[in-house]
Amino acid sequence: MKAQRTRSQERILKLLKTLNRAVSAQDIHIELRKRKQGMGLATVYRSLDALKLEGVVQMRTLATGESLYSLLQDQHHLTCLNCGRSIPIEECPVHNLETQLQDNHHFQIYYHTLEFFGLCEDCQMVEADQNRRYSAKGMHRGEF
Ligand SMILES: [Zn+2]
Ligand SMILES: [Zn+2]
Repeated sequence: MKAQRTRSQERILKLLKTLNRAVSAQDIHIELRKRKQGMGLATVYRSLDALKLEGVVQMRTLATGESLYSLLQDQHHLTCLNCGRSIPIEECPVHNLETQLQDNHHFQIYYHTLEFFGLCEDCQMVEADQNRRYSAKGMHRGEF
């Protein structure tokens, strides 16, 4: 889809390139205002939709339900359910699958999302620590 881009779309695209990270529509709204390029939140959403349809912007949804937008990138994360930290992983496990699906179904794939959820190393240690304390208490009670 090669549509003429609006000025708002160009501004958002430029901002995403500058920030070089995934941000929410609300963040984009605030960042543009800081740069004296403010536009209504509805326009931000509309522009993001158009850019997504054009295949230059992708969206990933966090565990909190918040949507983050970025330029197209094949990047995946391990997200900790406890502290909310997102750790980027090096390789894409489904990169070849995407090519296969594209060929088999004659479907033009722009992007995919793949999220892994659990506990990060730090939060696992806290968890283990708590478990140790609980079992120690249990033993203590057992003595009486
Ligand atoms: Zn954590
Ligand atoms: Zn991938």
